[in-house]
Amino acid sequence: MNVLSKAHAQELDANDSLAHFRNEFHLPVIDGKQTLYFTGNSLGLMPKLAEKYLQEELEDWKNWGVEGHFHARRPWMPYHEFFSESLSKLVGAKPEEVVVMGSLTNNLHLLMVSFFRPEGKRTKILCEAKAFPSDQYALASQLRYHGLDPKEHLIEVGPREGEHHIRKEDFMAAIDAHGEEIAMMMIGGVNYYTGQVMDMKHLTAYAQNKGITVGWDLAHGAGNIDIKLHDWNVDFAAWCHYKYINSGPGATAGYFVHERHHGKADIPRFEGWWGHDKETRFEMPETFKPIPTAEAWQLSNVPVMAMAPLRASLDLFDKAGVENLRAKSRKLTGYLQEVLEFVAEESGSNFEIITPVEERGAQISLLVHGYGRPLFDYLMEHGVIADWREPNVIRMAPVPLYNNFEDIRAFGEILLNYLKAQQA
Ligand SMILES: *Cc1c(COP(=O)(O)O)cnc(C)c1O
Repeated sequence: MNVLSKAHAQELDANDSLAHFRNEFHLPVIDGKQTLYFTGNSLGLMPKLAEKYLQEELEDWKNWGVEGHFHARRPWMPYHEFFSESLSKLVGAKPEEVVVMGSLTNNLHLLMVSFFRPEGKRTKILCEAKAFPSDQYALASQLRYHGLDPKEHLIEVGPREGEHHIRKEDFMAAIDAHGEEIAMMMIGGVNYYTGQVMDMKHLTAYAQNKGITVGWDLAHGAGNIDIKLHDWNVDFAAWCHYKYINSGPGATAGYFVHERHHGKADIPRFEGWWGHDKETRFEMPETFKPIPTAEAWQLSNVPVMAMAPLRASLDLFDKAGVENLRAKSRKLTGYLQEVLEFVAEESGSNFEIITPVEERGAQISLLVHGYGRPLFDYLMEHGVIADWREPNVIRMAPVPLYNNFEDIRAFGEILLNYLKAQQA
């Protein structure tokens, strides 16, 4: 059967036990046309419940004023705690190891205050080449903050000549070669550009074995792939909630600190009152007493309005189940791969899939030699929302909570039409 046949996609959708979750989201309609949305890796769609939850907080503020801290439907005082259980399942942690707070880059900096502590010969940071720009700035500025020159103290591992993704053994070789000089390894768990999933379990153990502290940026991992931060013994991690976790633009982010670092007095930390012991917080004692969980890294009382949409999204993850979502995600992305291969063959086109099949989550990145921007503009005109990275990469991520097989089929047809017209 033709992979682009409607009947085939319809059958795949009919057999999808998670198909009904699509109705829980607002799918963008632009210029009167329902879009084919493939940018859940950039900004996840809005769960319908988000509006209700946000409205409830506004009403409680209206009705209770300051008393809402205790009497709101979800009291604001412990508000961040309502997320821990659900969120911990998305990153494989204990509830007391995860906290919703701030933004991703903020949290990375705060965590590095504790976990990047250059000392003696151990002064370097190991990361991936061409990391997401914000991570590059964060790492370089952390080094400079400690009086260290990034040119000398940032070790970057990149793809080999002619390859697109980074080999695990090349990270291991860098650890072998420089292990004694590396204080911290901080890498994106899923590369934002190629979609490559790193072997976090193995690399964490390999680096820690050489005395290196290990952190992961899970911006493209959380809500996308299987993660077991606790079992992998990861030291710390941070991620955002507006990509695969569908909590809205600039949504309040999340972080993880492994329990073996909890309740320790000898970890330097930037402190704030929301990290202080809950029993005595309002006695306002002079001395900071850290909460014996990851909450010790919290600074401020929580932005309730900014956090309400996250509750809506986590409800859906809880209902669907992380493993079911992952299973559907594999099928969706597998189908996208099939469609792309079919289209390449039918059209005689030479675009390249640069995401490794064996190491991927939802995303597939396409290198479209020679088509460039006109192809992307054509897709946009036909209602396909994908993500364009200069000079010639299109990133697409079908998301199991709201994308379906028909989205992918329809996209394949549009792409094929364009490429065929180019050959004519
Ligand atoms: C999306 C993303 C960011 C964005 O950082 P913010 O602080 O949320 O603006 C940072 N790092 C990576 C790897 C990302 O994918």
